[in-house]
Amino acid sequence: MIQIKNYINGQLIEPISKSYLDNYNPANGKVYSFIPDSDENDVELAYIAAKNAFKEWSTTSKEKRSEYLLKISSLIEKKLDKLALAESIDNGKPLKLAKTVDIPRAAANFHFYGTGILHYASNAHSMEETAINYTLRQPVGVAGCISPWNLPLYLFSWKIAPALAAGCTVVAKPSEITPMTAFLLSEICIEAGLPAGVLNIVHGVGSKVGNAIVSHKNIPLISFTGGTATGKHIASIAAPMFKKLSLELGGKNPNIIFADCDYDKMLATTLNSSFANQGQICLCGSRIFIERKIYDKFKNDFVARTKELTVGNPLDEKSKVGAIVSKGHQEKILSYIELAKSEGGKILCGGSALKFDGDLKEGYYLSPTIIEGLSYDCRTNQEEIFGPVVTITPFDNEEEVLMMANSTNYGLASIIWTQHLTRAHKMANNLHSGIVWINCWLLRDLRTPFGGVKASGVGREGGFEALDFFTEPKNVCVKL
Ligand code: NAD
Repeated sequence: MIQIKNYINGQLIEPISKSYLDNYNPANGKVYSFIPDSDENDVELAYIAAKNAFKEWSTTSKEKRSEYLLKISSLIEKKLDKLALAESIDNGKPLKLAKTVDIPRAAANFHFYGTGILHYASNAHSMEETAINYTLRQPVGVAGCISPWNLPLYLFSWKIAPALAAGCTVVAKPSEITPMTAFLLSEICIEAGLPAGVLNIVHGVGSKVGNAIVSHKNIPLISFTGGTATGKHIASIAAPMFKKLSLELGGKNPNIIFADCDYDKMLATTLNSSFANQGQICLCGSRIFIERKIYDKFKNDFVARTKELTVGNPLDEKSKVGAIVSKGHQEKILSYIELAKSEGGKILCGGSALKFDGDLKEGYYLSPTIIEGLSYDCRTNQEEIFGPVVTITPFDNEEEVLMMANSTNYGLASIIWTQHLTRAHKMANNLHSGIVWINCWLLRDLRTPFGGVKASGVGREGGFEALDFFTEPKNVCVKL
């Protein structure tokens, strides 16, 4: 049985307490590895290592830092198959998805910031003959990075890469539900020769390890991706300590379909934006609004195509939908399906757990679920479910759908399907979200700002925004 280790000061080490947690394979419900059940003492060790490494790393040239990041990126690419298999087993996502999206994106994150840092510049402000101001951008210090389970290595590296590129050293915590690829990343960092203490990875639960990072008095910056309730708790600790905070939180994203859309493209993409990664992507469009003229046609086609999706063993090439990440999460999703029924929703397909025989008997499977007949403001349509569950709702005009789309506390992403140029831009302008996709979904340019408004978060990741976050601007004024 694999025993995962913490990565502290360049070494793979046991937690000080020597205690471990079980790590489950969601495809078969069996324990297949052990995770360090670390606590604040391990975080302190990691902090000391990061603090000691900071002086040298923050003054290492950008070119040299870039070289380390590019080396890590190419090692991730080289180990694509091993990492993808590990991600699929740990998370339950289809192996194909891990191979084509998660792991290539993790490599791209290191590559992007390994090159991006070479082009990062700061400003100068001339006061004509009087003075010149120039702005230094200096790494903030030891960064605390905490990530969720849905896109494990992808989101972990999306924080770590810009932090390291900017010259911060890092104490990072992956989700205890999916720790495996973070562990493999620590082996990669050792192989890449990353100096000791520059990156430290402490495994364990949020209430111990996460909390110790967030409340550590000498960690001045927290980059967090996860649920809104956790983000709120983190902000309540970190804000009074005046820490820099980046919070990427939950979503309840509208997918708005007008009758004049490119129907076939819309239908194929909507299947994906509803059920990719078992609907466990913060950007999935879980509330689908359809112009009434095409509601019945869409409903029939969408239900038929959804029923064709093969749910099954994540390692099987034929599986389009894998396992839900944990038993607890499967139960949460099922409880929302019950809630939808009690709110008057009609289940058009799915709606229950799926059981398989043989080795997968104890796995956590759920059939993709479509619900209709709910009001836009019921709990099912307002709270994040984060599973393969979508609702469909007809609308009659732009004003009505905008009102419904903007009615939640969340504001991460929106999707619009229309061929009408003016309408598309007008809708994009008026939707309350940090990201709008028009006639596409999940098309990402890593230079663009990424993040949400309202309860979906504070701050932006991506491009130079992340390098701005991990550096502190200092203005220097020189009298001429
Ligand atoms: P979560 O909030 O339960 O956990 C996220 C991380 O925070 C984990 O590493 C966890 O151990 C840690 N944590 C938990 N309690 C903590 C505490 N008290 N102090 C510090 N750290 C703590 O979220 P999850 O269930 O892992 O992930 C799913 C959520 O993440 C969904 O709400 C989803 O929308 C959101 N998400 C958002 C984005 C985005 O970019 N906005 C991306 C992916 C996922």
